[in-house]
Amino acid sequence: MATLPERARVVVIGAGIAGNSVVYHLAELGWTDIVQIDKGPLPNPGGSTGHASNFIFLVDHNRENSEITHDSLRQYKEMGVFTQSGGYEVARTEERMEELRRRMSSAKAWGVDASMVTPAEVAERVPFLDPDVIIGGLWQEGVGVVDSLRAGTIMRDAAVAKGAVTTVPNVEVHSMEVVEGRIRALETSAGRIEAEHVVIATGIWSYALARMAGAEIPLTPAVHQMISVGPLPALAEKPGEISFPIIRDMDTLCYERQHGSDMEVGSYAHRAILHDVEEIPSIEQAKLSPTEMPFTEEDFDPSSSRPSNSCPNCSATRGPRSATPSTACSRSPLTGMPSSARPPRSRACGPARPSGSRRAPAPVGPSPR
Ligand SMILES: Cc1cc2nc3c(=O)[nH]c(=O)nc-3n(C[C@H](O)[C@H](O)[C@H](O)COP(=O)(O)OP(=O)(O)OC[C@H]3O[C@@H](n4cnc5c(N)ncnc54)[C@H](O)[C@@H]3O)c2cc1C
Repeated sequence: MATLPERARVVVIGAGIAGNSVVYHLAELGWTDIVQIDKGPLPNPGGSTGHASNFIFLVDHNRENSEITHDSLRQYKEMGVFTQSGGYEVARTEERMEELRRRMSSAKAWGVDASMVTPAEVAERVPFLDPDVIIGGLWQEGVGVVDSLRAGTIMRDAAVAKGAVTTVPNVEVHSMEVVEGRIRALETSAGRIEAEHVVIATGIWSYALARMAGAEIPLTPAVHQMISVGPLPALAEKPGEISFPIIRDMDTLCYERQHGSDMEVGSYAHRAILHDVEEIPSIEQAKLSPTEMPFTEEDFDPSSSRPSNSCPNCSATRGPRSATPSTACSRSPLTGMPSSARPPRSRACGPARPSGSRRAPAPVGPSPR
């Protein structure tokens, strides 16, 4: 295992999907002398990347986000870590149908393969969905899921193989030395490292890391609740990663993603469950991982009578099943847009976050100087 050098040209903090993407793209662009640090072990250091549903939808009203998503998709396909399933955004109300029609316009404008569909057409491909609760949908052929830990490993290994990057896991950044607005060095659990450039790719911890440099990255850790329900009789013996299209139930703010004979149901319909970054447990304190916090049943009850999702097998009916609740922190950029601005008071410190699709490898564009 590599030890922490005393200096590097670039230090990238974080080995989630964003940090791994940054080291890969920097190496591709010719940068060398890069050190990547993560406080957790590899390949799954305990951030959000290790327990996401991993799906990518392709339509966005914003052209920039749409293009980033498509470029990410291209890269994932090249890496062989993408499984295409197709996906539906479904509507229960006329108002939502109007929005889906607007999304169809954006799909046409940005060249995304999509079409408006009837409830019967959705049910043809998704037999576990109740067509009576929806009035239509938007089909996106190219939707699918990514093996994000594998993608991260491939990108990191490629950068290491080029001789551009040294990756040092199990090292935590504790503080930063800032001189005249530039980060000069980091104090870590494995000692001090000087750096010309520092990239913060620390997901929900980014606010705390930026504060070490006297800068602010406006991200707030927010819990996103997701359960895995199964095995479901309707999905019995479904092999592999995914065999049915993913459903985004836009009116109930839920999604359903079949995974083998289980169904992952995610909800954005609950109250805003926000945390101070200091409340995120350390690796030692965390029961599961730092980003998997206690599940709060009252915020997300999949068997409640409320129409929480369009999959009757997952909500209204009870079959022989086991439910494994999981919940985790995601970040909320306050603007809803990628936070790509340079923090004002530390010129050598740039945030990196997956944008467009939150799963996307963030493209970076600096040239070696
Ligand atoms: C339940 C759930 C489901 C999701 N589903 C999807 C989905 O279907 N599709 C999608 O696109 N997105 C999804 N997301 C969002 C997605 O998982 C995240 O946007 C993405 O994984 C964030 O990657 P990251 O590299 O920025 O952060 P992380 O993966 O969290 O990596 C940050 C790393 O920084 C390290 N770190 C932090 N502080 C320090 C320090 N002081 N010193 C050293 N290292 C440090 C951490 O150990 C961690 O490994 C989901 C999220 C959740 C929670």
